[in-house]
Amino acid sequence: MNLDDLPIRDDLRGLSPYGAPQIDVPVRLNTNENPYGPSASLVTDLAEAVRHGAAELNRYPDRDALALRADLADYLGHGLTAERVWAANGSNEVIQQILQAFGGPGRCAMGFEPSYSMHSIIAGGTSTEWIPALREEDFGIDPDKAVAAIAEHRPDVVFLTSPNNPTGTALDPAVIARIAEAAPGMVVVDEAYFEFARTGTPSALTLLPGNPRLIVTRTMSKAFAMAGTRLGYLAAHPAVVEALLLVRLPYHLSTLTQTAARVALTHREELLGTVDMLRDERDATVAWLRDLGLKVADSDANFVLFGTFADRHAVWAELLERGVLIREVGPPGWLRVSIGTAEEMAAFRAVLEGIL
Ligand code: PMP
Repeated sequence: MNLDDLPIRDDLRGLSPYGAPQIDVPVRLNTNENPYGPSASLVTDLAEAVRHGAAELNRYPDRDALALRADLADYLGHGLTAERVWAANGSNEVIQQILQAFGGPGRCAMGFEPSYSMHSIIAGGTSTEWIPALREEDFGIDPDKAVAAIAEHRPDVVFLTSPNNPTGTALDPAVIARIAEAAPGMVVVDEAYFEFARTGTPSALTLLPGNPRLIVTRTMSKAFAMAGTRLGYLAAHPAVVEALLLVRLPYHLSTLTQTAARVALTHREELLGTVDMLRDERDATVAWLRDLGLKVADSDANFVLFGTFADRHAVWAELLERGVLIREVGPPGWLRVSIGTAEEMAAFRAVLEGIL
């Protein structure tokens, strides 16, 4: 028997699972992880906390993760409290819960592409119709066109990604505010890469007080260097959190996950200390690629979209052949490189130069 023989949902037939290749090569620059591993002191504290918590693993975890949510609220600032913060297994699960509560059969969600393709994939998984709107040539969003698209389709959920993946483009909060004003339903600002934004870029968190249908999502997978922990979170009006409690699975966040995230938050200065280095490395990468005569999107994230290549797959494959894994993603002809350590970026430059 194979997959096609199963009575699977018609809308899932013929689909491929999402996921970048996980290939063991010397230089992995394809999933926007933070290249710096945890320090010895974080590993020690984590091991101690897990040892302590292990004695109670016969019990379910704190179902509402209240202590973790209070810690996340403290990290976010902006006067947020635990009742305005929610957490799940990666921001992907947060997004899934949002669509379970506010999307679903007979409802639709809109996003501005090119953007993070999991938004539309999770819409599919929750039987929410997906309506793609387009970004401009510079990968920004034209607020007039966005408002017109929203008026036409009346989406139940609007996704705005800032800084955007895979382009790196940050949105002006004034644009987000206009869209939030025009949207009849929920507006989700996916700020997975916010910590990498150029200094002075305001967060959409500043818009929460006047916008009760606004949700800002974040993750510990990127700047926090905790991708393996699987911890994503959001800030929103307390009523939004109440709505998500209706769809979350009981005990969705394991004791071990909650423990690891809380320990990481106590080490946040050290973890976020890598952000400045990664920003500098990013800006240097943008400048270097432009010096080569390539097109490069301005980036406020920990990756850079560059191109354009007549045969981008050939360039990607040649880099891989020489031990450097990047991502074949974005509009036709473009490639995306995540920012690694100085040594990894030197390897990327040497190999790409050899290819070009
Ligand atoms: N949002 C965006 C824009 C992303 O790029 C990613 C990861 N690639 C995520 C959300 C999901 O991250 P996680 O589930 O690890 O929190």
